[in-house]
Amino acid sequence: MNNIRCPHCGLVNRLDALTCLRCKLALAQTAASGRSAAAASAVAMAEERPFWVAVGLWGLKTRAVAWAFVVLSILVATGSIIYWSWLGAIMYLAAVWYFLAIRWVDENSAW
Ligand SMILES: [Zn+2]
Repeated sequence: MNNIRCPHCGLVNRLDALTCLRCKLALAQTAASGRSAAAASAVAMAEERPFWVAVGLWGLKTRAVAWAFVVLSILVATGSIIYWSWLGAIMYLAAVWYFLAIRWVDENSAW
């Protein structure tokens, strides 16, 4: 299979043809061409966020805001432990959650 069939007129064109020889319709290049393959993998990079990431970053639009919440959680946890109870350490889990969610988006998606 070294050719592309024109979806408009049915003429079989060469694989690297940009337009159909007969009707001049622009042909969609398949993943066989390097440029399209790169574009396809770029799309694949922007995966949909899993549930735990979506919940962790709910309402946080930017990476900077998400990092601010990591810092805030740590401060609140530390303050709670000092002035209230060890139960405040639960906030450390929130900080870890934010951190893991940020890391997931960095590696698998985009802000
Ligand atoms: Zn054609």
